[in-house]
Amino acid sequence: MSRRDQLEANLEAVRARIASACADAGRAPGDVRLVVVTKFFPAGDVRLLAELGVTDVGENRHQEAEAKAAECADLALTWHFIGGLQSNKAAAVAAYADVVESVDRPKLVAPLAKGAHQRSHEVDVLLQVSLDPPGAGTGAGGRSGAEPDQLAALASAVKQSGSLRLRGLMAVAPLDEDPATAFQRLAGIRQELLADHPDATWLSAGMSGDLEHAVRAGATHVRIGSAVLGSRPRVK
Ligand SMILES: *Cc1c(COP(=O)(O)O)cnc(C)c1O
Repeated sequence: MSRRDQLEANLEAVRARIASACADAGRAPGDVRLVVVTKFFPAGDVRLLAELGVTDVGENRHQEAEAKAAECADLALTWHFIGGLQSNKAAAVAAYADVVESVDRPKLVAPLAKGAHQRSHEVDVLLQVSLDPPGAGTGAGGRSGAEPDQLAALASAVKQSGSLRLRGLMAVAPLDEDPATAFQRLAGIRQELLADHPDATWLSAGMSGDLEHAVRAGATHVRIGSAVLGSRPRVK
């Protein structure tokens, strides 16, 4: 089987899962956008995915993302940055990312806005919220995501930045909790944000293993890596 055939078959299966999750949740299949997470896979795969109708790709490491976006600059793709962000790299990320999903602290806002401004292009921003239970210890890599009670201030900072558009929230289900429960909590957090920012309607949640739960909880974007591209080498 060629790589193209393999990707095509995997994409078809993932699209069917999304459609069936939407049907179960009484949602239209067009309500959920598939972001294919291409980290660790080459630009050649990104190109095949674009040919197969993928419109959105996600990357989580700046250097890899920057190089791949440059190699694929001729493709009309929307690039999502979904990884932990250092403030000294944020301006550079905003130079190629169309959506930055991992904004979790006010310190990132000014450099992101600067990068977006230099490109004369508004960058879409999602606030990453932690779904770890309150008081949970920070893991080895530190927790990612703002605490829910920090979102209001973070949202205001993005709103005031000028060249960033506040679009909504992103979250990853904790490893040690049922994703259905975690995403239910996320839906509540989203309602609170929407009360103050009715335009912030995007909800990026759901990965290869839990997309059905995310769609049920109202996800508008699912970030799917291994179910499309196959398993990646273990991180670190
Ligand atoms: C890698 C990654 C994904 C994709 O995970 P899969 O389980 O391979 O689908 C989604 N979201 C984030 C933030 C990631 O880092």
